[in-house]
Amino acid sequence: MTRIDLHTHSAVSDGTDPVAQLVEKAAQLGLTTLALTDHDTFAGLDEAFAAGIEYGVQVVGGFEFSTQLGGVSVHLLGYGMDVNSVSLNAELSKNRAGRKDRIPAMLAKLAQLGMPIDSQILAEQVGDSPSVGRPHIADAMIKQGYIESRREAFEKYLGASGPAYVSRYSTPLTKAIDLIHQSAGVAVIAHPWSRETKPALDEQTLAWLVQEYQLDGIEVDHQDHDAQTRSELGKIAGRLGLLATGSSDYHGLGKTNHDLGCNTTAVEVFDELMARIADKH
Ligand code: AMP
Ligand code: FE
Ligand code: FE
Ligand code: ZN
Repeated sequence: MTRIDLHTHSAVSDGTDPVAQLVEKAAQLGLTTLALTDHDTFAGLDEAFAAGIEYGVQVVGGFEFSTQLGGVSVHLLGYGMDVNSVSLNAELSKNRAGRKDRIPAMLAKLAQLGMPIDSQILAEQVGDSPSVGRPHIADAMIKQGYIESRREAFEKYLGASGPAYVSRYSTPLTKAIDLIHQSAGVAVIAHPWSRETKPALDEQTLAWLVQEYQLDGIEVDHQDHDAQTRSELGKIAGRLGLLATGSSDYHGLGKTNHDLGCNTTAVEVFDELMARIADKH
């Protein structure tokens, strides 16, 4: 039986499993196909492809692009893109620089809130990840005993309306879709109706993204979407001719309720996605 999970994170970004361990785990769970989609980086893909061969899992190269539409953060999954694309890599470098640049300001806010972060402890959480994120700060806060979980850190301090939040640069969504297409990839909006993004991504806006930018798909089956949301998004995907994917958004120990393979993508949808990638190459 085919089981396809198209959205996962490793320790290369804010997941907790090393790349090879993630692929091994996928094999153990009986997944046949896995996309590695770390935030704003391709750094784990070579290792993922090698591990895919070792463990007998089909690995699809991907990433999760930090973008914004009218100032609202939107995550965009790219698949099958040329990882040597100069324009795409230049833009991802900008996003990663934005991730680094915000850190001192966030640490200053945490210090003001009575939670100074030890720079050595933070560095240990980041490890050699080229794509530092708030989850790494959350992990340092846990290590220092300020909070119990990443979730608690986001709810109380690090979320977009939290007292330690600082915004960062991210690519305009329409430019991000174009960059993925120019590098022969396919673009799928991740968790389009998670709490923050629903108002920004109504059907009319999605229709415009299909019409003007040839958006390829939306992630329908995702843990941020309840049954009603999945049903509505599935209908919208049908009306607009969007690929409707399903995936776990696995982050290892970093996110509860996102077990590897907890949502999967239908084989017909996956075949169409791969056909679009093949067409572009
Ligand atoms: P950043 O990349 O710095 O913008 O941080 C956003 C990342 O934090 C997302 O990609 C999620 O992986 C993670 N995140 C957001 N909210 C939560 C939460 N409530 N619990 C755990 N991780 C979260
Ligand atoms: Fe993440
Ligand atoms: Fe995301
Ligand atoms: Zn993700």
